[in-house]
Amino acid sequence: MTALKDVATVALPQLCVSKIQAHLRAVGQQGYEGMALWAGVQRERHFEVTEAIIPQQRHIRTSDGVCVIVPAEELHRLNVLLYKRNLKLLAQVHSHPGRAYHSTTDDAYAVATTVGCLSLVVPNFAREAFDLTRVAAYRLDSEANWAELSSAALARLITITS
Ligand SMILES: [Zn+2]
Repeated sequence: MTALKDVATVALPQLCVSKIQAHLRAVGQQGYEGMALWAGVQRERHFEVTEAIIPQQRHIRTSDGVCVIVPAEELHRLNVLLYKRNLKLLAQVHSHPGRAYHSTTDDAYAVATTVGCLSLVVPNFAREAFDLTRVAAYRLDSEANWAELSSAALARLITITS
């Protein structure tokens, strides 16, 4: 039985990229961070993304900056939905106003929490076209650390398909 941590290749349809990019950009134009998810089906060590999900989210501005929160009840609703449809959550993708990195808040309040899942951070409120070489990417390891993936490692992992 393979687990999410065993996934070595991911097929990501361009449509699933466009959908989240549009969301992140629209929210960014209002000055907020956005959050989106990729879910799909795992076959052995290969993962096919089949869904881009825009969860209900709260866009918050504080004196420290902006952040995006997915409420606990929405997380529960999504988990039930994914379970019923036999889908796995592969990745969370969120935007930052400027530089792309995983903040301590991002570490603490991650939506995707299964070992092997991915967290991508898109810079500059997603104003530029989505580009795997420009996002910051992390993968949750078995010690519950978000280990950073190099651009090369991300490129080996994810293939955007038409
Ligand atoms: Zn963040």
